[in-house]
Amino acid sequence: MSIKENLSSILNTLPESVTLVAVSKTKPISDLQQVYDEGHRIFGENRVQEMTEKWENMPKDIEWHMIGHLQRNKVKYMAEYVSLIHGVDSPRLLAEINKQAKKCKRTISCLLQVHIAEEDTKFGFNEKELLALLENEEFKTYKHVKIIGLMGMATFTEDMNQVRREFKSLKSLFSKLENNYPNFTTLSMGMSGDYKIAIEEGSTMVRIGSSIFGKRN
Ligand SMILES: *Cc1c(COP(=O)(O)O)cnc(C)c1O
Repeated sequence: MSIKENLSSILNTLPESVTLVAVSKTKPISDLQQVYDEGHRIFGENRVQEMTEKWENMPKDIEWHMIGHLQRNKVKYMAEYVSLIHGVDSPRLLAEINKQAKKCKRTISCLLQVHIAEEDTKFGFNEKELLALLENEEFKTYKHVKIIGLMGMATFTEDMNQVRREFKSLKSLFSKLENNYPNFTTLSMGMSGDYKIAIEEGSTMVRIGSSIFGKRN
């Protein structure tokens, strides 16, 4: 199937309440342009340099989402234009985003990444660290970041019951926080292999790459 057909078949199955991030990492601009031409405007990338090159060379009404693990020294290169940073996984990274956003006179929306997977290679906060950050007095003074929710990645496994359990735990944490933090609107969970389960478990934003653009090398 073509990129265009893949995109429309996914969009047809997504509930209206769920936002699609088309994950275009490693793919050429000509591929992204096909998705753009269908009217889609939200793209996700995991490398700052690659995303910035695409931002420079594509129409300016695209929302660029940084979905990958982010190093603090890279924030400055995208602070001017990035729409949403999904993988905020440390207080120091959040401080840097606030600093760089201030220089650009912007407020950058962020999601806090929560560690839900079994593998210890995946980044993210645990519940206790998350609450400590949200209640931190210094954090409360940050005017240039807006935390709009949580992001998580399930374990890479065939065991879909495990994946579902992990999504359920993230959703339950999100529901708890939603009551106390009015800016919490977004729960980013689900990729090509597991987004249907993620949506059943309450995802509001899915990050889909290979099911739209085909396999990556
Ligand atoms: C690459 C990536 C995706 C998309 O993965 P697919 O399996 O190709 O849909 C989603 N989220 C993150 C954080 C990624 O790095």
